[in-house]
Amino acid sequence: VEETLILVKPDGVARGLTGEIIRRIEAKGYRLADLRLVAPDRELLAAHYAEHEGKPFYEPLLEFMASGPAVAIRAQGERVIEGFRSLAGTTDPTTAAPGTIRGDLGRDWGLKVQQNLVHGSDSPESASRELALWFA
Ligand code: ATP
Repeated sequence: VEETLILVKPDGVARGLTGEIIRRIEAKGYRLADLRLVAPDRELLAAHYAEHEGKPFYEPLLEFMASGPAVAIRAQGERVIEGFRSLAGTTDPTTAAPGTIRGDLGRDWGLKVQQNLVHGSDSPESASRELALWFA
């Protein structure tokens, strides 16, 4: 069965939205196969976001992701990668569709990085790479 890495980012944990986000994942029918609270170090974040190195939001992104604990979830289900990205909504929370996690619960904070509550792997290759990092 397909699996993906979902992160409740530090803004989601700090705002007390972990339960609401997990509720939506479970309500969609996905299985939680593993779950942990992680305080990621710079090395983990640099590996996770290697594709964004050099972009203007890269440093603010790493700083934000190191600002507090995140919840890492190994979720399983048919087409869970695509399904969770659909649940999450598009990157910018201001314009993410209502009904999505980002669209319902997120907003723009006027910062250099989108604090958009969640991450979900975007392909089977990313999922296995990211799961190995966060569940090392
Ligand atoms: P999506 O692929 O739907 O955009 P994602 O979370 O996978 O969602 P990425 O493009 O991989 O987004 O970017 C990683 C993270 O970097 C985003 O979730 C967001 O927090 C931040 N980010 C991405 N693009 C920008 C941007 N242009 N300005 C500010 N922050 C950004």
